[in-house]
Amino acid sequence: MYKDIREQLISELSEIEKAGTTKSETEITSAQGSHVTIDGKLFLNFCSNNYLGLSNHPEIIAAVKISLDEHGYGLSSVRFICGTQDLHLELEAKLTKFLSQESTILFPSCFDANGGIFEVLMKEEDAIISDELNHASIIDGIRLSKAKRYRYKNRDMADLEAQLIESQSARRRLIVTDGVFSMDGYLAPLPEICSLAAKYNALVMVDDSHAVGFFGATGAGTPEHFGVSDQVDIISGTLGKALGGASGGYISARKEIVDILRQKARPYLFSNSVPPSVVSGSLKALELVSAGGSLRATLHSNARLFRTLMEAEGFVLQHGQHPIIPVMFESEADAVACAKGLHAEGIHAVAFSYPVVPLGKARIRIQISAEHTELDIRACVKAFIIARSCK
Ligand SMILES: *Cc1c(COP(=O)(O)O)cnc(C)c1O
Repeated sequence: MYKDIREQLISELSEIEKAGTTKSETEITSAQGSHVTIDGKLFLNFCSNNYLGLSNHPEIIAAVKISLDEHGYGLSSVRFICGTQDLHLELEAKLTKFLSQESTILFPSCFDANGGIFEVLMKEEDAIISDELNHASIIDGIRLSKAKRYRYKNRDMADLEAQLIESQSARRRLIVTDGVFSMDGYLAPLPEICSLAAKYNALVMVDDSHAVGFFGATGAGTPEHFGVSDQVDIISGTLGKALGGASGGYISARKEIVDILRQKARPYLFSNSVPPSVVSGSLKALELVSAGGSLRATLHSNARLFRTLMEAEGFVLQHGQHPIIPVMFESEADAVACAKGLHAEGIHAVAFSYPVVPLGKARIRIQISAEHTELDIRACVKAFIIARSCK
């Protein structure tokens, strides 16, 4: 039987290859960081979500080592059978306070958090109104719900309002958006979204995976940045990016929403507890973030420096204030050639082209970290100047 399927899969793989969209993986032999080892050579890394430089932070490593001795390696159970430790409860309480919400529930990943929530909260008589560029996990989570689906154009408030008018007969309505759209680094217009939600009596959910830890005065993310924390009903996020970068996700929300998720969310009920060492590392990461004003300041000044230097050299960037900084190219071939040129100069960065981004919007997406030094940023700009003429 497999013989036929093998042939089909081989031809599907060759279609992907022909379309030029095969995703290859670079083998890194060092820890994650501003510098990584590839093929025995040191590269400056500009393509990880290690925004605050916590992925290999000595205080996190130390905390994890202690927790391995005190809380062991694995839990071998889901939370409600015998997989809840004091550490899990502590992390949930700390996230709740940090995000100014009422309660928090951990998930194995943010993908699972988004995969679990919609089915539980939104039924046939309800409506989910979703930004067209929302993360794949939101799209998949919505698919699992029987609610009616509405989609609005990316950050387009007139279209959101039209969808709210369209969906007025629903029992419950939920507007859901990424806090930051990761291909462009654009922020969702949360004040406008919240005021439309208030006008049309809808809930607001923000997936803040690409902002938690480094946006807002205390790092609480885009709701804090925009001063609307009290108007956002549900926040989902990841522990796998700025908050240490290991794994795990959460939903922080109104108390009853979290209570019902603990009873019914399938990725919570039927997938293993977040490992104790990862929970400990996340607790330490949160502590560092809470005291991390200077890390955030370094991250944002690094990002500003990169934007300023690149624009002075005539590069076209997607405008914004996020450490995701897309450098735009006229053609896909130019972007790919430039990424190769960067590689030759010891810079690790990735070109994105259609269908990951719209046709004609090929780019190299640079991600800045607080761990980068000014010299690292300048070295990256210098490499771009050399690589821009690569064809
Ligand atoms: C990265 C990301 C996720 C997935 O997070 P994991 O914890 O890695 O599953 C979900 N949503 C958004 C917006 C993300 O950027």
